[in-house]
Amino acid sequence: MEYAVLGGGLAGLSVAYFLAKQGARITIFDDGKGGASSVPSAFLHPFVGKWHRKNHFAEEAMEASCSLIDVVEQETGKAVSCKTDMICDAIESADDLWIERTSSHVLIRGGRVVYMGNYLAALRSIIPHRSVVAPISSLDSFDVFDRVVVALGKGTLDLLPMKGFFLVKGQMVSLAKNPFDTRLPLLSSLHLSEDAEGRFWLGSTYEHTGEEAADIGAALRYMGPRMELMGLSVKEADTTGIFSAFRVARSGTYLPFAEPISEHIAVFTGLGSRGLLYSALFGRRLAAAFG
Ligand SMILES: Cc1cc2nc3c(=O)[nH]c(=O)nc-3n(C[C@H](O)[C@H](O)[C@H](O)COP(=O)(O)OP(=O)(O)OC[C@H]3O[C@@H](n4cnc5c(N)ncnc54)[C@H](O)[C@@H]3O)c2cc1C
Repeated sequence: MEYAVLGGGLAGLSVAYFLAKQGARITIFDDGKGGASSVPSAFLHPFVGKWHRKNHFAEEAMEASCSLIDVVEQETGKAVSCKTDMICDAIESADDLWIERTSSHVLIRGGRVVYMGNYLAALRSIIPHRSVVAPISSLDSFDVFDRVVVALGKGTLDLLPMKGFFLVKGQMVSLAKNPFDTRLPLLSSLHLSEDAEGRFWLGSTYEHTGEEAADIGAALRYMGPRMELMGLSVKEADTTGIFSAFRVARSGTYLPFAEPISEHIAVFTGLGSRGLLYSALFGRRLAAAFG
């Protein structure tokens, strides 16, 4: 069967990988602009939401994501992630295999920092597919495909009138040096991690503003009070760049939407701030349901 996968971010590539494993012929359409998945370095761990609660799917999702990353690393011979404990200061789960509490901090054990550009390029390289770089403004021309998966991130909501989703802007600023006297990566009301090139990224994904363009002033205004709580003033932060994107979230749940909406069309979106945790498990499930 011929599948059109619209969107080459985490959602599109994950479902494309599992569909291709089932024998589907895949064409991936993307405008090449890059969406939320272009975030330079991202955290993979089993806790979701602002207070890092663990939900029902966490273990299964972690296992699916880690094994997909392992496959990608083995098949390409490229390291696209770093296995690491993560320092965390807001965690509501009780004792758990994933958590170590010491007198000075809480550690999430066994997480990964994933270098997203490298990961997506490597994942794409192991999916047999045709690639079309083009903006998509309608689904009309996709009737020639047996099936279509819409995984356009924010673009999904422009294309399909779907209720129960909203956009959250996330911004990360790059810093010339690690501003805190702490081990990395750090998961707090601010996130701090290092990317594959050794740049430090400080960010937060809870900005509820509607402007698409990157706005370093707004990012620092939003992060300022949080930075002060951690003993760093905005002035001291030696910023060298900014990454900005909208992520798609769902009302009332942290779980993504990965379902057929007709015999011909399925939608995979709403991965929220935990795209890395959910993309492999829900991509695999969608491929099984729509394959
Ligand atoms: C600042 C920030 C930090 C984040 N940190 C983390 C983290 O630490 N851990 C984590 O798990 N998640 C994190 N996330 C969330 C994660 O990035 C998202 O959940 C995930 O990337 C969403 O993937 P997606 O494929 O649904 O959408 P996208 O990545 O947005 O992919 C959509 C793709 O479709 C293309 N596209 C869109 N519209 C069109 C169109 N009309 N025509 C053609 N192509 C189009 C885009 O260019 C893009 O390539 C973060 C998000 C942000 C913004």
